[in-house]
Amino acid sequence: MKHFETNAIRTQTERSSQREHSTPIFATSSFVFADAEQARALFANEIEGNIYSRFSNPNNDEFVQKLCLLEGTADGMAMATGMAAMFVSMAAFLNAGDHIVASRSVFGSTHQILTQILPRWGIESTYADIEKPETWEKAIKPNTKMLFAETPSNPGLDLADLEFLGNLARNKGLLLNIDNCFATPYIQNPARFGAHLVTHSATKFIDGQGRVLGGAVLGSKEIIEKVRFFARHTGPAMSPFNGWLLSKSLETLAVRMEKHCQNALMLAQTLEKHDSINWVKYPFLASHPQADLAKKQMRLGGGLFTFELKGGLETARKFVDSVEMLSFSANLGDTRTIVTHPASTTHSKLNDQEKAAVGISAGLIRVSVGLEHTDDILADILQAIEKAQK
Ligand SMILES: *Cc1c(COP(=O)(O)O)cnc(C)c1O
Repeated sequence: MKHFETNAIRTQTERSSQREHSTPIFATSSFVFADAEQARALFANEIEGNIYSRFSNPNNDEFVQKLCLLEGTADGMAMATGMAAMFVSMAAFLNAGDHIVASRSVFGSTHQILTQILPRWGIESTYADIEKPETWEKAIKPNTKMLFAETPSNPGLDLADLEFLGNLARNKGLLLNIDNCFATPYIQNPARFGAHLVTHSATKFIDGQGRVLGGAVLGSKEIIEKVRFFARHTGPAMSPFNGWLLSKSLETLAVRMEKHCQNALMLAQTLEKHDSINWVKYPFLASHPQADLAKKQMRLGGGLFTFELKGGLETARKFVDSVEMLSFSANLGDTRTIVTHPASTTHSKLNDQEKAAVGISAGLIRVSVGLEHTDDILADILQAIEKAQK
């Protein structure tokens, strides 16, 4: 078994007759058959090989093969977007009458799938409080089939105990599905704790440079066989260009995540002492209520931290209006540092009670820490805080 960095760099599509060093883009919708016998065997699944890019393409396969090695899963399939991955990971397994228990603070579109889309096919869900194990147990019903969580949560940065959920899923015979987008496979490997499905939006840290959309569903051979059947016939395929780009991105995931996390920890520690800030939340700060769990299941603290500005809504609005270099955007996982005000943007549709339940106050700012020099990131945050306080 080679190491993470080596797998991320040296897993590569077989060289063509051109002897290329770097994998080219296979911009082809279909593949030719050598003869009638090979075509028959490919369609009968007796041999492996490409037929049509809706279900396999060398670029997408290279990307997902790497991701499997990095996550420790046997198989996987690339999807056009993170949301395609989330939807397929549910729709491929659930039938009318089934029930999902999910962590309350899931990504906005995942919330819409759970509450607006799946119910149209008779699939219901209940939310549990991510950090409270007893609420997961209480939410399980006789027809529950899947547990779904995003950890760390967005933007609360609360953690689900992966070992607890892995045991719960095993004891109750449920599928455990973890959206590992925030942590990335460099920081956390849910399959090691018993997750049957590991889902990703590759749009965030995996691409890492804010260029393309992508996603993946990973799991055992048996699990991915069902995913592949569903996706082959419904068509949420990744484009070969995106597969090529994302496979290149994985080559630098380890060094990028080291730096994202180092920068985030440094900024979180510094801002925690600032007079105009009530609190800072980051999984690897000693003040995080689940700091011990974070150290147990995460290799590093991640690239995001949140803080609450004194002064509430008006001060937070002035803060995002006052940043100069930093980007004010709803995305995350970019080389560029991004600030978000969840209460007025990504989570504005929640009522006050729902906001409180997922830890969103009017003064909360989320920072996706980029790879610029920390002196420059800090200087911009400090000048924006100063302006916001006036
Ligand atoms: C962005 C995101 C998604 C959706 O991914 P897309 O690639 O935008 O479709 C799902 N889950 C989490 C945690 C995300 O941050």
